[in-house]
Amino acid sequence: MSSLTQHLRSGKQVLQQLEPVSVLTPRVTRVLGGNPGPFTLTGTNTYLVGTGSKRILFDTGDGLPVFVEHLRAAFDRTGCTGLECIVVSHWHHDHLGGVASVQEFLGNEVPVFKFIPASLEETFGGEGARAPYDMWPKEKFTHLEDGAVLKVEGATLRFHFTPGHANDHMVAMLEEEGAMLSADNVLGTGTGVFRDLTQYLDSLQKMHDLKPSRLYPGHGPVVEDAVARISAYVEHRTARVRQVEAAFSPPAAEEEESDPTSTTASTSASVSASEVLSLTEITRRVYPADLDPKLFRPAMANTANVLRHLATVGVVAQLGDEEWKLIKAPAQL
Ligand SMILES: [Zn+2]
Repeated sequence: MSSLTQHLRSGKQVLQQLEPVSVLTPRVTRVLGGNPGPFTLTGTNTYLVGTGSKRILFDTGDGLPVFVEHLRAAFDRTGCTGLECIVVSHWHHDHLGGVASVQEFLGNEVPVFKFIPASLEETFGGEGARAPYDMWPKEKFTHLEDGAVLKVEGATLRFHFTPGHANDHMVAMLEEEGAMLSADNVLGTGTGVFRDLTQYLDSLQKMHDLKPSRLYPGHGPVVEDAVARISAYVEHRTARVRQVEAAFSPPAAEEEESDPTSTTASTSASVSASEVLSLTEITRRVYPADLDPKLFRPAMANTANVLRHLATVGVVAQLGDEEWKLIKAPAQL
């Protein structure tokens, strides 16, 4: 079991608890969105950045009333009395959903920055179940371009366009600390879902090359071994690609070491490399048999993404909506 899946004991998530408000450094205070769940771990992390009375809020949670209470407590703890602006890392509702209620709490409207993509993506994976501009009107966003810088007393944030998890995803380097706000590209626990594997791997490489000292992720605890964690994500995804390839031709000669009551298909059958497999079957072969059923759908979404990536490089072909076939030896990748 890799270090990235150690929190999945017996297929269930075991999560480190986080305080609603944590002053992490003089420049960074973490404020929880109050929306824990299978996709959001301990809920969404938002970050109040800066040292003065007006700061930058990075992400806004899901729009639950409890988040505004947490934010009020964070203001009291840090001497912050207002916001210079809000930045939204990407359009998913657990990051964007709180913009309106934060503005209401402030009593005055502050600028809202986000990368504005040319077109919207369809919703996916349980995360993007609400249209972004229903949560905050498009005309009220200010476009944040790749490389843009926002400054506030005590903090300079430089933004980097890092799509893959979502088509508008950005991370930010906090220059005074050399630290990165990694949003949903790299989480504090486990791995995340992504939309486009090729883009996602490119974005992880970009993040790696920025050599952050630590990560402030969109979900879960602070990551101190930032560069190693990003590398582990790349290795994990690459390993997943190999596993999906291998799902088409499980080694028939391997000894069964699982318990005799196991009924998983991958331990019992010798399968020809030219078989046609459904997305569900491939996902079953790739993920542990005791995976929490709630995590099966995101696992299928990840598997589908790997298959699309493999189709792009000519290793598999899609036959029907959900059927896939190996067309080239994976070794030729
Ligand atoms: Zn997300």
